Amino acid sequence: MDPETVMEAARAAASRAYAPYSNFHVGAAILTGGGTIHSGSNVENASYGLSICAERNAAAAMASADPEDRGIELVAVFSPNAAPCFPCGACRQVLREFGCKEVVVQEGGRLGHYAFDQILPNSFGPENL
Ligand code: ZN
Repeated sequence: MDPETVMEAARAAASRAYAPYSNFHVGAAILTGGGTIHSGSNVENASYGLSICAERNAAAAMASADPEDRGIELVAVFSPNAAPCFPCGACRQVLREFGCKEVVVQEGGRLGHYAFDQILPNSFGPENL
């Protein structure tokens, strides 16, 4: 699938962010090995620490959708507030859990492509247990 199609889902998710405190809107879209797109937006909470990032919400949507299709080919992340917008450290670890291979971000008018090992080198995952 064209990464631009996945990024378009991330843009749409960002428009649905619940971010009344930071006003920092983020959308993420995951493309699975089976070719399905799952998206999520950031959801903040009045007790700030309970806020959840777009990437983790997208991963949760994927994980709870189809147990046979939990491998992440790529994740696209978009924010109208920051370009590029990369996943935070916590989200990188959650994406790692599902074997994320590539991260795609908006860089001006083009998409930037990053191998997952580039943004979380020497990572710890399920095979290390
Ligand atoms: Zn995050």
